This record gives sequence, C-alpha cells and structure tokens, in this order.
Amino acid sequence: MTPAQRAVLADLDPVLGGRGISTDQAVIAPWLTDWRGRFRGRAAALLSPADTGQVRAVVAAAARHRVPLVPQGGNTSMVGGATPEEDGAAMILSLRRLDRVRRVDAGAMQATVEAGVILDRLQAAAGGAGLRFPLTLGARGTATVGGLVSTNAGGTQVLRFGTMRGLTLGVEAVLADGSLHDGTAALKKDNRGYDLDGLMVGAEGTLGIVTAATLRLVPAVAARTVAWAAVPDPDAALALLRRFQRAGDAVESFELIPADTLAAALAYLPAARAPVAASHPWHVLVEATSPDAERTPGTMVEAVLAEAMDDGLVVAATIAADERQADAFWAIRDTLSAAERARGPAAQHDVSVPVAAMPRFVVEAAAAVEARFPGTTAGGFGHLGDGNIHFHVRAPAGADAARWYAEDAPAATRFVHDLVVAAGGSIAAEHGIGRMKAGELDRLGPPSRLAAMRAIKAALDPLGILNPSKLMALAPSLPRP
Ligand SMILES: Cc1cc2nc3c(=O)[nH]c(=O)nc-3n(C[C@H](O)[C@H](O)[C@H](O)COP(=O)(O)OP(=O)(O)OC[C@H]3O[C@@H](n4cnc5c(N)ncnc54)[C@H](O)[C@@H]3O)c2cc1C
Repeated sequence: MTPAQRAVLADLDPVLGGRGISTDQAVIAPWLTDWRGRFRGRAAALLSPADTGQVRAVVAAAARHRVPLVPQGGNTSMVGGATPEEDGAAMILSLRRLDRVRRVDAGAMQATVEAGVILDRLQAAAGGAGLRFPLTLGARGTATVGGLVSTNAGGTQVLRFGTMRGLTLGVEAVLADGSLHDGTAALKKDNRGYDLDGLMVGAEGTLGIVTAATLRLVPAVAARTVAWAAVPDPDAALALLRRFQRAGDAVESFELIPADTLAAALAYLPAARAPVAASHPWHVLVEATSPDAERTPGTMVEAVLAEAMDDGLVVAATIAADERQADAFWAIRDTLSAAERARGPAAQHDVSVPVAAMPRFVVEAAAAVEARFPGTTAGGFGHLGDGNIHFHVRAPAGADAARWYAEDAPAATRFVHDLVVAAGGSIAAEHGIGRMKAGELDRLGPPSRLAAMRAIKAALDPLGILNPSKLMALAPSLPRP
C-alpha cells in the first residue's frame, strides 16, 4: 500500500467504520475481475460507504491524497468498466450498500432510488405501486441503478421506452471534489444551463459518482402478446417491424435471431423447442403489450403477421398460447449470449448503425469478415429496431483460444469497427467503452467529439481520480496522481 493510500484509509476509518473498509484480499478478490473474465486488476482496498454523506467523504479523501477510485455497482459491465487497473493504484468504491428505495410516487409515476438498488428490486418496487420500470436486461438480478445510469444501459424494451437516458429524470451525484449535485427533484423544466444530470448518464463513473436517481415509471402491463416469426432475410424483418409500428405503439421488443444462433441456443437449453422450424434462415421475437386488460394486443399482432405472410415478409409464425409459452420464447432469447459463448472463442461487438442500414449491414459485414479472415464465421443478433446488434466473429474450428484472442481477434475487431464507422454507426451501442474499447474510441472517435469529451473530463475531474483509464484513456494529458 502506498503512503497516499494509507492516508486515505486513515481519514476514512472514523467515517466508514468496520463494514465500510476492507483491505482483506480474499474479500476484494471477486471484485477484481470483470463478468466476462477478460480483465483482472488489483486494488489496495474496497470502500463500501453506506450513504451519500459517506460517499462524499470517500471522494474528498481520495481527492485530497490523489488516490484514484473505481466506482462499482453489480460488476456486470460487459467492457471491463468496473475493473481496476493492474497497477493497484486505485481503490474500489462499491455503491452496493446504498440500497434504499427512497420514494415511489405513484401519482407522478416516478421512483427515487439509491445507486446500489438492484434492477429487479426496482422493478418489484414499481410493481408494488401498480406501475412498472420498463427497462430490463439479462443481468437484472445483479446490475444496479448506479451502473445502469452510468452505462446508459439499454436492453430489450428500448424500442418503446428508450435507454436509461430517457428514463432518468434526475441524478444525485458526488462530484470529483466531494461536492454534491442533487437533481433528484427531477424538475420538468429547468433551463439553468448545462444538463449536469444528463452528463452523468453514460459517463461510466468518469465524471462523478451517482448516489441516487429519480426514474420514470410507466403503467403496468395488463396484457401481452409474444410471437415468433421466421422471415426470409433481415430486410423482411425490418419491413415487418415498420408494419407493427404503423399499427400503434404496442410493440416494445423486436429481436432478430439468425438460424445458427438459434440452433446454438436450442443446443444450450436441451428442454427448449424451436417455436417454428429452426431451419428458416432468420427469426424474430416480437412482444406487444397493453396497460388495459380489455384491449389485448393479440388481435393486432395476429392481423399484422397474417398480412405480412400474404405478402411474403413472413414465412412461418406462431403466437404464444399462454404466459408459460411466452416465457419459453423469451428463455431462448435470454440465453443467446451464453449459448454463443459456449460455441467457443469469439470476438464480440456491441454495435449500432442507423436502423434502416442494419439489414444490409448485418449480412454484408458477416460476408466481409468471413472473406477477410478465412475460417471464421460471423453474424449478429439482437435489437434490430434500435439498429443495435451483438455482432460476433467466431474463431476457426479448432483454433487455440489464447492465441486467437491475442493475435487474430484484435484484427477482426478493428475490421468490424471500421465497417461500423463506414456505415455511420457506433462501436459502443449499449455496453459502453470501459477498458475494452478505450483504444478503439481513441482511434475512431470523431476528433471534435473526443476533444469536447477531454475538455469536459478535465473540467469536472481535474485530478483524474474518477475511474482512470476507462473511456478517458483518450485523455493522456490529464495529470495522473
Ligand atoms: C448477462 C448480462 C446481460 C446484459 N445485458 C445487457 C443489455 O441487454 N443491455 C445493456 O445495456 N447492458 C447489458 N449488460 C451490461 C450490464 O448489465 C450493464 O452495463 C449494467 O448497467 C451494469 O450495471 P452494474 O451495476 O453491474 O455496473 P458495474 O458493472 O459495476 O459498472 C458499470 C460501469 O458503471 C460505473 N459505475 C457503476 N456504478 C456507478 C455509480 N454509482 N456511479 C458512477 N459510476 C458507476 C463503473 O465504474 C463502470 O464503468 C448485461 C450484462 C450481463 C452480465
């Protein structure tokens, strides 16, 4: 431990007490690796404040002694965003003990919750008030509100309700000097200049520590219809989505799945059955909901699918007969990431392009990658309606995983990212930049955007103590402690 780190702990000992500080490496170890197991770091201490006041004390002490902090929620980051660096300079700042649901206002349809509240608890709290928090994702049992805000998380309902940016009405955050910004009043109109709350969304812990947020709730689902359709190609899938959207705003999920990814999921879930013949080349999972039990979306879904079938946009389709079957369809979708991982080594990319360009991109990019890297197989699945897919390049059969990841995968990733940029897209659609993509953002980010980001970082975190090397690896000019 460095003298500066020792000084931080001495300052914080009377404030945080026994539960708030751990230097026991056995306790810290699980938090030093990311969810995918791609990054590993070191940290002299795990700091676990219990409330906003204690977070302020932690940040102030870190600033005083120039010790970097790596904020951490559920540690489900897909890009190594919450993993400290190998040099051991930083301490982990865990927000998991800030876990109070401060207020659910059913009338205003808002909830103010602390950063450590886990997503499924937030969903339950909203449900308890007869409402719903409409963002969900596979890590809902672990991911926290602070992490969701800080990564501007997406998920499967973005089509209708937007990402965390659209659902976050106000943020309480501790700034890099220990001062507090409190935006939880969530004023509907507030034109006092820069949108500080908005800046914290998607900042990946590099501009402030989110301690609480006021979030938008929506009416609970009273009826839902889940359908599975086989389509000839991604163009047909997008045309089908447009027809659903013209029929109203009931559709909230529209997921594209190629046949080989579906086959992998079915192999991974032996009890699962393909909703329609798995031999069709492309599939979509559609969910439409209604807040009114008397007006189920089933009739609309059935009518759109029937017409699309007549027009050749859909080759086979089925509507889940009951909730159990609907859950079975979703179980297939929810297992795609794990099933893809089980197929072997792969370079995975969370990318977006303009929605209208996605059908062409997903087909042409796969062909271009396979031609450029013989033996690989490539393809994408996911949120077609958001122009966001998870695009995987799988190693040639029999490839040595360690060698492939070290030598070939980075070249494949650069190639994919170049294609994305050429298509006018983003190399980080919903998972963020973290440690994994910092170099690529530096390489590909438009210079004007990078310069503005560096200026904001330097202004809000002049000492560079907040999550150094994440996102802002592109700010080498910042003074390092
Ligand atoms: C199985 C699985 C499925 C997933 N599916 C999706 C998906 O569909 N869509 C999607 O968008 N993401 C998805 N993710 C990624 C992940 O769940 C999200 O990024 C989530 O928002 C991270 O929350 P967390 O609490 O685990 O944050 P962490 O992983 O702990 O941290 C994420 C980032 O936020 C920062 N951070 C965390 N808490 C704070 C805070 N209080 N203040 C400031 N900074 C903070 C960290 O430093 C880090 O940079 C998935 C992950 C898994 C494991």
